[in-house]
Amino acid sequence: MKFSDYNIADEIKQQLNDLGFNKPTDIQFKAIKHILDGEDVMAIAQTGTGKTAAFAIPTLDRIYRNKNKYKKSGIRCLVMVPTRELAKQIAKVYQDIGKKTNVKTFGLFGGVEQEQQIRTLDNGIDILVTTPGRMFDLISQKAIVLDNVEFLVLDEADLMLDMGFAKDIQDVMRFIPTKRQTLFFSATISKKIKSLAYDVVKNAIRIQISPKNPVAKTITHTILDVEMDDKRFFLENIIKENEEKKMVVFARTKVRVERIVAAMERVAISSEALHGGIDQKERFAILERFRTGENKILITTDVACRGIDIPSVDCVINYDLPDNPENYVHRCGRTGRGKNRGQALSFCSESERELLLAIEEYTGDRIDRYDLSQGEYYEILNDSDDGSYNWKKLIEEENKFKGTDTEW
Ligand code: ADP
Ligand code: MG
Repeated sequence: MKFSDYNIADEIKQQLNDLGFNKPTDIQFKAIKHILDGEDVMAIAQTGTGKTAAFAIPTLDRIYRNKNKYKKSGIRCLVMVPTRELAKQIAKVYQDIGKKTNVKTFGLFGGVEQEQQIRTLDNGIDILVTTPGRMFDLISQKAIVLDNVEFLVLDEADLMLDMGFAKDIQDVMRFIPTKRQTLFFSATISKKIKSLAYDVVKNAIRIQISPKNPVAKTITHTILDVEMDDKRFFLENIIKENEEKKMVVFARTKVRVERIVAAMERVAISSEALHGGIDQKERFAILERFRTGENKILITTDVACRGIDIPSVDCVINYDLPDNPENYVHRCGRTGRGKNRGQALSFCSESERELLLAIEEYTGDRIDRYDLSQGEYYEILNDSDDGSYNWKKLIEEENKFKGTDTEW
């Protein structure tokens, strides 16, 4: 089936064609018809399989068709997402797909000034894509009215529930008419979240693609045994051997991210840090420089592990293994998107063995180990351009950071 065969508005079909979307992906094929039929949907599908358009196409179509019939203005579709980067990205997908329609989408998030956002909301929008914090703030200021919402979409829904927003989501549902469609999308769903999720979408059609293995098939996975203190030399080596490649490097905390950027700088590798401690405008600019390729090495925390869609990422490096096995799937999912192939390489130190076991248990697969002889291992250490590094300074730096490190 092609998009041209669908019962959706011509303006949307033409635009999908212009965007190069001809055939629906698996999840789009399975979800769109139910959403058009007015049903609630809970969809679990691997990273990079086109979940955004799976909810954006049918919700846009419904709103566009009814736009002239609506008696009152107001927000028709509320899309809630866990990070600011994602709010911006998903609003853009709606704007792109809806380009030939008169449907207005707005991406709302914290960390930037409110005045302009309130003005845009006052002028009237149809679709609001937002992070919970700023949304609740503006609801309490009466700048957001949800009386006319027909669609509630939760993307990366499991994380939204897990971040402690479960009660907030229940609360927000009280502001939204009970006669609405609820759409729940994620790549993973943990046992812990399942019952909460079923409370949110009660009689939903459940669609799960490849339920046994949440890991995208387009990604090759490898583990490299590296001692904690040697990780930076290995990262240096990998980056220098793959100069042209675009990589996302995940580390456990903000401070570790900054340290890795500094360590790379010492060996003349330019990279940029992205984490929750950086000013929001700068965060967007950093992501944009990575998107355009101006910067090829993005070093980040789990703040960037969900949903970010940059099609040309060649490789994900887990400099530190994630504490939460689901985040392994999400981090690796930043590469190998759509039909592209990608590589995921994870450093595993002695102290991270248990995390690795938890990941393998979760994904149901043993990940291949990179076979490195002791000789090769030491050669990588010796090859480093960081030989002149002053160990005393390193210890001082270590002490300075001690006790100040926080997550994301
Ligand atoms: P997910 O949310 O499942 O991780 P996204 O919705 O971010 O994935 O989509 C991944 C990529 O696939 C995006 O770059 C998007 O433009 C592309 N894409 C989505 N649907 C189609 C389609 N039907 N045809 C071609 N490309 C598509
Ligand atoms: Mg997504």
